[in-house]
Amino acid sequence: MGVQQLKLESVRRKTGGRIHLTPRVPRSGPVTTLCGQTLAAGSFAPVEAEADCANCIRRSQDQGRISGAFFAQDEGSELLRLSLEQAKFRKPQRAGDSPRPGAPERPVVWPTAKPPAEAIPDRLGELVTRGFRPAGDGVWRSPGGVVVKMRKQGKEWRFEELVFEGSVIATRVDEGMRMRAGDVEVNPMDDGFEVQLKKG
Ligand SMILES: [Zn+2]
Repeated sequence: MGVQQLKLESVRRKTGGRIHLTPRVPRSGPVTTLCGQTLAAGSFAPVEAEADCANCIRRSQDQGRISGAFFAQDEGSELLRLSLEQAKFRKPQRAGDSPRPGAPERPVVWPTAKPPAEAIPDRLGELVTRGFRPAGDGVWRSPGGVVVKMRKQGKEWRFEELVFEGSVIATRVDEGMRMRAGDVEVNPMDDGFEVQLKKG
């Protein structure tokens, strides 16, 4: 008997693309996928089909990761319910019983309260990380809810995509185009872009 599985739901952007996994597809507000992407409110829908996002599938094998995801999405109560249910079905251990070595009992999975503190460098290629929070593979989120996706090319992180449902201003400048979206600005540089929180 294994640990009771937490049921994950499939979700996909309305514009298509990969089918991701998440603890629960909310009726309103944004959703964070198991692979760490945040899909903006109204931009996604639940789907019946099996997930085909490799990162989500890989992470769905990791109970600790799933527990964290449930907790992050305020589904901690569901997690607690399942944990208690599991505990109920487990044989109570009487005083004097010594636990059999190698007994195939697995511990109750408790949610991770906080993600482990990671040392984030000031700059990752084209991204000035100050003020951003990591939100999954190469994905960063600003305090104002701007999602920036970086892609690794060789050893360098390069700006790939910015997603924001709000005020966006694109301005022509000598070297190309500057974009201001929410609290983030993307400036053209000699050989690419620089992404950072708006100054001031
Ligand atoms: Zn995914």
